[in-house]
Amino acid sequence: MPWRGERDPYRIWLSEIILQQTRVAQGTSYYLKFLAAYPTVIDLAKAKETEVLALWQGLGYYSRARNLHKAAQQVMTLGGTFPDNYQDLLALAGVGPYSAAAIASFAYGEPVAVLDGNVYRVLSRYFNIDAPINKPVGHRLFRKLAQELVPNGRAKGYASAAAAYNQAIMDFGATVCTPKKPQCGTCPFSDSCEALSVGTVASLPVKEGKIKRRDRYFDYVDVRSTTGEILLKERGAGDIWQGLFDFAILESKDGFAERPALEKHLDWLSLKQATFCGTRPPVKHVLSHQDLYVQFWRYELADEPKVLPKGYRWIKEGNLDQVGVPRVIERYLNDSTLLLDFNG
Ligand code: SF4
Repeated sequence: MPWRGERDPYRIWLSEIILQQTRVAQGTSYYLKFLAAYPTVIDLAKAKETEVLALWQGLGYYSRARNLHKAAQQVMTLGGTFPDNYQDLLALAGVGPYSAAAIASFAYGEPVAVLDGNVYRVLSRYFNIDAPINKPVGHRLFRKLAQELVPNGRAKGYASAAAAYNQAIMDFGATVCTPKKPQCGTCPFSDSCEALSVGTVASLPVKEGKIKRRDRYFDYVDVRSTTGEILLKERGAGDIWQGLFDFAILESKDGFAERPALEKHLDWLSLKQATFCGTRPPVKHVLSHQDLYVQFWRYELADEPKVLPKGYRWIKEGNLDQVGVPRVIERYLNDSTLLLDFNG
């Protein structure tokens, strides 16, 4: 992990935001890509949001990328220097208690506890606490306990003893007290671990009341111009993928559309006069709280509309890397084997 032992708040912050909801193996290449494109927070603040989103493409949860960019601009209003304490770090876009604690302790040595999934698991098991870790009551209890355990003082090679402790407890959760098959037999705390002594290790930590999922059906229309450009539309606020580009769409919550309904919905494109190239078998795309069922239709226009509605744009196929597109669109565009399914 290239950010290990890092003391630069910009680099720590970058790694923390990238690693939220991302595996280390995948996050590492993005971390290096971002550092190469934006070596300092000043470079990141100067970038266009569309460039940041394009670089982020493939990581998902795009609000993180937008917040990354916004926070860089906030830092510029502070003279280009990161806030140097937990409370002020919390004011940055996208920086929650976990990231603020990580930056404050690893960069500045502030004795504040980090509380991520690993720490919740270790504390809930070691102290045998069944308060739900995804509810306010659990948050309060674990935050108080975690904070009481953070040491003061110094530690060689770290910004402080607190920084060393935070790193150690997270590593311990990731490697020894793991979600499945924790290594209790060789654990150095097995003599004093409460959950091990009462047999509750497997049921901790407790999570309550999962959020209900919802289904959405997307009929995407991939429209090509007479000169081979692709029609894309920037997604607006208040829904998934804000700021990314996808195709013209007809959405439903209970099933895919028929071709006549699709062509009527997009009558400004005069699809009835266009060449219909075919459709593809539907795919399922799973997001955190939604299941998307996605079907693609492809048309080639005989005449392009003179004026495009707001948000639409023609993009040359070779310039697609200039905008961010959702993963499901990227896969569709990249997977040439699926083109065989077109019947036109
Ligand atoms: S004994 Fe098992 S459950 Fe307890 S802290 Fe060690 S690894 Fe975790």
